[in-house]
Parts: sequence; structure tokens; C-alpha cells
Amino acid sequence: MKNTWKERAGPAVGGITALLLGVMAVYCSAAQPARAGERAKNEKASSAETNRWNVLLLIFKRLQAPGRPHVTLHDRDIKHAISVVDRIKRSIPAISNQLMLINNIEAHVIDKPLTSVNADGSLNSSVYGLYDELLRKGRYDQIIAIVPSASFRFADNVLGLGSSYRHAGYAQVALQPGGRYEHRGRKAFPESIFVHEILHYLEMRSKAIKPNTVDLHDAPRFGYPGWNEGYLWRDWFAAYMQNKLEGGVGLDPRVYKVNRAQGK
Ligand SMILES: [Zn+2]
Repeated sequence: MKNTWKERAGPAVGGITALLLGVMAVYCSAAQPARAGERAKNEKASSAETNRWNVLLLIFKRLQAPGRPHVTLHDRDIKHAISVVDRIKRSIPAISNQLMLINNIEAHVIDKPLTSVNADGSLNSSVYGLYDELLRKGRYDQIIAIVPSASFRFADNVLGLGSSYRHAGYAQVALQPGGRYEHRGRKAFPESIFVHEILHYLEMRSKAIKPNTVDLHDAPRFGYPGWNEGYLWRDWFAAYMQNKLEGGVGLDPRVYKVNRAQGK
């Protein structure tokens, strides 16, 4: 199929780098370490909880890794990426029926070249120091990293990765210079790849609370057309986020609560 959006869930839970295995194998291996932490967090539920998420958007401008094509995102690429990600401020509340709100998106352009990435072109542990520094300074609930790529995708036609990093969600999405987050013209909602990868984090959180939460990729099982049909994702995302699936096997509403303890 042309223009298929394909991605896998992937790496970086507490510094763990997942191997390039099949989709669910990678996802499941990555999900385990997060579960214990999630339970502990849920037990500490307090009035500091909110459903207004802070997003840290990191745009890595240059890739200069040995043995790989060097890639530099142009200013117009960066401007476009920021404008597309900004759309989640409206679409996530709409799709979730206000269960999840975006409080803030703080964008940083990282000019320092990436000199090391995974074999598939995704970010590796060389960026964790930067993440840790930023997570110390601010309270972010979701990290979105834009990764320069020579082909608008990682290896294996993967466009994005969704997982967690420490207490936050962690999404990586590839961007080729001159590329566009657009899919099938007007029927697409271009930020769908970002919503999708954020949903993988919510999926992990929900499975920790409610083990019978179905997979984000289970759309066809519930009568929704294939999840790779970009413009059809929205209805499925809405049913999944609002827990409107038969049997109540969508996301547990508690996944939207994030903690604002310590004044952050
Ligand atoms: Zn996915």
C-alpha cells in the first residue's frame, strides 16, 4: 500500500534500549519496567494531580554520525514540525472529549549534532543526559523528539516510536528535510503520528492499571479500519481514549492524570 504509516513501539524505559524485534515483542519488553513504577505512582494519588499535560518538544537539527548520511533540518522544516505538533493542543482534547488537555508545549531546537544513533536511525542513549538535564529543570509529562532522517522514517519503514522515559511519555518521530507531516491530503490530520505515539504511552499506563486494556493496534478487531489508514485513526483514537469500546477495554481514565507535586 502506498504511503502506509508504519511504526513500532520502542525503546528507552529507564535507560533500556530495546532491540529491533517485532512490534509487540519490542513493546512488551519495554513496557515491563514501567508497570511497577506506575502502580507506585497511582497509590500516591493526591490533589496535585491534573489532566493538563506539559509537553517537551525537542527538535534535533543535525545528524552527523559516522557511516551515515549527514542530515540537517532546515528552518522551514523545524517551523513546520512545530506547527504540526502544536495541533495536538486542539486535537487531543477533542479526541479524548476533554479527558486529556495540553497545558503547554515547550519547543527546543538542538543545534549540537547527533554523532551517534541506533542502527535504525532512532535516538539512542547518547541523548539521555540531555533529557535528564531538562527533566530536572521542568515538569514534563511527554517528550516528543523530532529526529533528522535521510528517508523520512527509521529502518523498516518505521515513522515513529512510542514508549516512556523515566516518569514521562517518550515519542520519537522521523523527519526528512523537505518532508511534511501530511498524509492522504485533506482527510488526514497531520498530527496523527504524534497523537498515535503519545497513545502508546497511555496504553502502557492503562495496561499497568487495567491489564485487559486492548492494544492500540487492535482497531480492526473492533471494526475500525486498519490503523495504518491515517485518516481513519481519529475515530479509533476517540473510542480508545474515551473507553467506549465494548467491554470497557479502552484506556482507563486514570491514565490522563499526571502529578504536579513539588510545585512543578
Ligand atoms: Zn503504533
